[in-house]
Amino acid sequence: MSNALKTSTIVGIIGAGAMGVGIAQVAALAGHQVALFDIDAATVAKAITGIAANLARLVEKGRLDATAAAHAQERLIAVHQLAELRDAQLVIEAVAERLDVKRKIFAELEEHVAKTCILATNTSSISVTAIGATLKIPSRLVGMHFFNPAPVMALVEVVSGLATSADVAKAVYETAAAWGKTPVYARSTPGFIVNRVARPFYAEGLRLLNEQAADVASIDEVMREAGGFRMGPFELMDLIGHDVNFAVTESVFRAYFNDPRFAPSLIQQELVNAGFLGRKSGRGFYEYGPNATRQSARIAPPTDAPREVRLFPQSGVIMRLQQRLLNADLVTTAMPEMERTDGAVAQIDDAVLRLTDGRTATQCAYDMEHDNVVLVDLALDYAGSSTVALARARQCSDSAYAAVVGAMQAAGYSVVPVADVAGMIVMRTVAMLVNEAADAVNQGVCTAADLDLAMEKGVNYPVGPLKWADEAGVTLFNTVLKNLCAHYGEDRYRVSPLLAALSWSRASWHAHDAVDRAA
Ligand code: NAD
Repeated sequence: MSNALKTSTIVGIIGAGAMGVGIAQVAALAGHQVALFDIDAATVAKAITGIAANLARLVEKGRLDATAAAHAQERLIAVHQLAELRDAQLVIEAVAERLDVKRKIFAELEEHVAKTCILATNTSSISVTAIGATLKIPSRLVGMHFFNPAPVMALVEVVSGLATSADVAKAVYETAAAWGKTPVYARSTPGFIVNRVARPFYAEGLRLLNEQAADVASIDEVMREAGGFRMGPFELMDLIGHDVNFAVTESVFRAYFNDPRFAPSLIQQELVNAGFLGRKSGRGFYEYGPNATRQSARIAPPTDAPREVRLFPQSGVIMRLQQRLLNADLVTTAMPEMERTDGAVAQIDDAVLRLTDGRTATQCAYDMEHDNVVLVDLALDYAGSSTVALARARQCSDSAYAAVVGAMQAAGYSVVPVADVAGMIVMRTVAMLVNEAADAVNQGVCTAADLDLAMEKGVNYPVGPLKWADEAGVTLFNTVLKNLCAHYGEDRYRVSPLLAALSWSRASWHAHDAVDRAA
């Protein structure tokens, strides 16, 4: 039997800002009568008109039936006192991100609503446990975390505080599903799922820039074209706004008692200090506006094909890159098993090509006792990707490196040269995303399936980090992180106990899900 609230129930929304308006639109379209309240009456009136305009646009674009839009509009009402929410069965709060403000609103609300009314907060960073702690009935308070813009983004994190009842979480989960959303369960911990697990996407980009691995546009290009992400970290931070992104990073860092995994970046702090907040201020990492010129990625110029390519037996994702080399118009030999056991992917003229494993190319060259080592970065899918990043050892000769560039170009890749930083760009970022995902599951924040779903639907990752680990190899990411940890000597790169356990046991991420853990 479904626990979703019936559409005949009234939904109250408190706060008619960016989020409240979107949530009101979603609930009204789902068939509920929606009572919208804001401390500022003019804001509510504007919100109702705004929703009407949104619905009209959807009708114009053919995405919504005109009658459905008209009925949704009729179901929306503005209210001017919290007391007018007395008949609601669910009230969703979306006001300023302040614990004192939220607690005060819920305390007042409890004076008016029925004991069975579910109270939900759209907070993105405050402990749901803390918001609920001062309620008369803390078990009815749950996080219902929509993403911006709420009508477009599918994900809703249903966040349980220590006192939240499982029935309340379940009712909100099923209600969100009935509204056409993709809900996931999460335990109230800093950043919940998405705002925690996504931190390395920005942080590793910023650290790579700090180490001058490549310029902004090149790192973005590699993350998009090789990593398969919709946007690179710098263009995405420019879109989010550096003030907002920096504040979330700082808040998660503080909330985890200054765990170095979440340390903010001085580069981003300087952008905030300068008022270079991204698109909204006309300048962030990039410049915006009619006269702005967009930097482009540094792509290696066309280079001659090598004389000979020898491919060594490999397993895993890198085989698809070998296939591209095999299909290219090159003199290629597939070498027999046992020819090499040092991890080489190919010998290209005088150079050895390897997949980055978290060591620098220079260290690999030293360890392999072979000067001409070139590393290739991870790609989501070497078979389809247009771009690869390469890094060369300091002792690698220009001609040996050029042979690898030429081979990659012959295989149809654009080559982005990267300085010899440990773990390169995609590999390092994805390894850290996988690690954070593993830790969240290990700590019972959510199930493995919900984690991947949250990252796919909340931040549009091409594939959830845990699925990515299953495809590319849990052991590979474990090795990358261990090497990064040794290279930097920083606790930041410590391996999650779950990632380590899985790389030794081949068990499944899902085996770690406790029954009813999140609910
Ligand atoms: P916003 O500033 O756009 O809107 C907040 C609204 O709340 C304003 O209209 C304000 O007048 C009203 N308000 C303030 N105090 C009030 C009170 N005491 N009673 C009634 N109304 C009051 O903010 P937003 O971006 O919509 O964020 C709202 C909440 O949603 C915050 O908790 C935020 O962390 C969370 N959130 C925001 C986003 C986002 O991307 N903007 C995404 C997910 C969650």
